[in-house]
Amino acid sequence: MCKAIPFSRPFIGPEEEEAVLRVLRSGWLTTGREALAFEEEFTRFLAGPEGALPLLQSFAVNSATSGLHLALEACGIRGGDLVLVPAYTFVSTAEVVRYLHGEVVFVDTAPGAFHIDPKALEATLARLWRGEAAYPNPHGPGSFGPRGVPKAVIPVHYGGLPCAMDAIMDIARGYGLKVIEDAAHAFPSQLSNGTWAGTIGDLGVFSFYATKPITTGEGGMVVSRDPEIARRIALMRSHGIDRTVWNRYSDTQASWRYAVVAAGYKYNMPDLLAALGRAQLARAGELLDMRKHIAAAYDAAFQDEVHFSLPPTGPGDARHLYPLRLNVESLSITRDAFIEKIQAAGVGVSVHFIPLHSMPYYRDRYGLREGDLPESMASFQRVISLPLWPGMQDPQVDRVIQAVKTIAQEHSRV
Ligand SMILES: *Cc1c(COP(=O)(O)O)cnc(C)c1O
Repeated sequence: MCKAIPFSRPFIGPEEEEAVLRVLRSGWLTTGREALAFEEEFTRFLAGPEGALPLLQSFAVNSATSGLHLALEACGIRGGDLVLVPAYTFVSTAEVVRYLHGEVVFVDTAPGAFHIDPKALEATLARLWRGEAAYPNPHGPGSFGPRGVPKAVIPVHYGGLPCAMDAIMDIARGYGLKVIEDAAHAFPSQLSNGTWAGTIGDLGVFSFYATKPITTGEGGMVVSRDPEIARRIALMRSHGIDRTVWNRYSDTQASWRYAVVAAGYKYNMPDLLAALGRAQLARAGELLDMRKHIAAAYDAAFQDEVHFSLPPTGPGDARHLYPLRLNVESLSITRDAFIEKIQAAGVGVSVHFIPLHSMPYYRDRYGLREGDLPESMASFQRVISLPLWPGMQDPQVDRVIQAVKTIAQEHSRV
């Protein structure tokens, strides 16, 4: 039998190897020049050659989860504040709200979609504003979801396809919410007007986890155009240490002197990883083209098949995931059994995502039932993410297509 096709595999070339060796030999492993250069190059990429976003600043961090935590902290989220989060996301998007003792309010996806539904967002905010329960169908004591003042929303650019940011920004501004874009999948993703995902809200957070579009193994980047927010991120990323405070009150510029002005975190990115990130950033366009090529082959193969629905896409889609939807009504096999069969055929697959409101922690904390966010559950129950990684060869793509089609044909009801 042929070698199994992994679900994901990072694209690492001689440039990445050389970059890491350069740092290993430099005598400086932790945050320093490489991290600074990575931040500057990242900013230049998003701001464009003409510097269309002059205030944009980037902050390298050790994960997107850390970045989301910093972002919420910089937005002033504290105990009891409500933060709206799609149910259809990875747990990082919600857990950071709890780090700050805020309360999570889940928002549903649109029917047949994977992204936060602006209509559902607006309906949830309207209910909260009227002092009603967060979810439309409370079922007994403790099941009403949290009550309080909504302070922020975290839209997720699922799979690299940007959210409906115009509608989300309008709604968020109308209710006075901060907007933090979870751009973990979205480097680089473009909206129809040419702006980059991650630069539209108050902050954007990118992930460089091993499976993400560009990777440093573990890592992330926080971006913001708001100078106040940027200052807070820089401070809290590094123990709340402010070196300018001391210098302001003394004539000496002693480099060992520093002042701690807040209880900060240790979320910095070491140079070893930043160097890897710079090499990946330099080939981000190349990696994007490779992903587009594979996704286009899947689109062509599955578009006229009764058993499948293609993932929604658009011109600026980073095509980080290929979430194929099974038309389970036309199949005599469940999604879970389909996954077992495709794995047995040597194809690595995954599911993005198990809705968070069905997870024991959130379910029990907020008294939720699966039916409270019905569209998220419906999307989850029919989705399979196919392998999609730069460097995947055409024969491997064909093998995935054949495996998927064969299983569907063997279990067709039509
Ligand atoms: C991967 C992921 C994160 C977290 O990224 P890390 O860098 O691993 O912390 C956050 N949000 C979403 C949607 C993700 O897929």
